[in-house]
Amino acid sequence: MASPAVRPGDDGREWDAVVVGASLAGCATAIALGRAGARVALVERRPDPAAFKRICGHFIHPSALPALERLGLLEPLTAAGAVRTRLHVRSPWGEVPQPAGGSTPPGVNLRREIMDPIVRAAAADAPGVELMLGRSVEGLLSEHGRVSGVELAARDGARTRLRARLVVGADGRASKVAKLAAVPAREAAHGRFNYAAYFEDDGPADLATVWMADPQWGARFPTDSGLTLYACMPTMDRLPEFKDDLERAFMAFMEEELPGPPSIGRARMVTPFLGKISMPDVWRRPTLHGLALVGDAALTSDPLAGVGCGWAFEGGVRLADTVAPALLGDQPLDRALARYRRRHLRALAAHAWLIDDYATGRPFTRFERALFRAAAHDDRVADRLHELGSRRGGPERMAPALPRVLLASMRAG
Ligand SMILES: Cc1cc2nc3c(=O)[nH]c(=O)nc-3n(C[C@H](O)[C@H](O)[C@H](O)COP(=O)(O)OP(=O)(O)OC[C@H]3O[C@@H](n4cnc5c(N)ncnc54)[C@H](O)[C@@H]3O)c2cc1C
Repeated sequence: MASPAVRPGDDGREWDAVVVGASLAGCATAIALGRAGARVALVERRPDPAAFKRICGHFIHPSALPALERLGLLEPLTAAGAVRTRLHVRSPWGEVPQPAGGSTPPGVNLRREIMDPIVRAAAADAPGVELMLGRSVEGLLSEHGRVSGVELAARDGARTRLRARLVVGADGRASKVAKLAAVPAREAAHGRFNYAAYFEDDGPADLATVWMADPQWGARFPTDSGLTLYACMPTMDRLPEFKDDLERAFMAFMEEELPGPPSIGRARMVTPFLGKISMPDVWRRPTLHGLALVGDAALTSDPLAGVGCGWAFEGGVRLADTVAPALLGDQPLDRALARYRRRHLRALAAHAWLIDDYATGRPFTRFERALFRAAAHDDRVADRLHELGSRRGGPERMAPALPRVLLASMRAG
């Protein structure tokens, strides 16, 4: 079905796309659509071009490297001090060796207060993109049963309507766009909470460490400016002791409960703690007629997996590549949106299902214990585990390693 022609909005203009939310997913979508030749209004409710997401571990898995390169962001982020870190995984059954022959490239670490303004400036500079700051989407326009634009409120209360063939909700976990469009959503229970702070330490600057302490979790992410983020995600039953004396509980957790613990006692804490207690995973249907969701608005996964930033960049590129031919030519937009929905699910659903399953705060299953035990003793199993954890290969890629998991696990006792 071809989409009806777009009427101009109050601004007298016809946009190919209105993208709501100028954080990682919205900017990635706008950059890729703009470079493909589309006219894009990029709307952000916060007025400050340097605004950034405050609570984020900002470890970007290597699966996002092609998207970052494609968007032209890897170079400016690196120039701004992004640290490239290999991932080091420890569990109670030993250390998972680094992938053989550098088969898993290093991830990217840059604090959001530096990353977000760079990404937003790149979007504002992209051809065809107009960044509109300090405007909040308060309503959706619809025509002939499809979303056809947005109603914006400026900070002085002034209202404007923008019309476009496609509205993109890149407005995060609580997506107002999704709520206004009554997009079906499902929330998955989350059984851990998060606290983190920046430290100066003498640990390796090129090695990010994750402790899968079953069922507890901790991490050390070196980042720009000589800083290192230490983060923990204990199970919910541990919350009272953290509420009681946060610093004491945090330091004791890192030093006494993680296998092969970090030497955090020698580090100097340089920022206050930031925490997040409630963070349910959210799945939404990623498309309706004239509407697409991307980034956290489409799928919010457990921060423990550290996938949200990378998936925001990858999702923006995936969406733009899929819908640009329809926005710029005469292909039916609805068919392109259906293709985007399939690609989104094919790329993310299996990973997200596994992540949700562990997000409840449950301990490892017998199979997961065997897997980590085997990975500590068998390089090929370790490679596959790194591939899965860095989201460069789906769970189905583990299948050939299963006999080795059983064998290595039995040998290791
Ligand atoms: C504790 C924690 C730790 C995390 N650690 C990591 C990690 O280590 N690695 C990783 O990859 N991910 C991590 N994440 C996830 C990551 O922060 C998110 O997945 C990522 O920021 C999603 O980007 P986004 O662009 O989809 O949404 P957001 O960054 O949430 O941006 C949404 C944007 O929409 C704007 N907006 C909202 N409503 C409106 C409206 N009505 N009108 C206009 N604009 C609007 C907002 O102002 C904002 O700019 C973590 C998350 C948490 C909670």
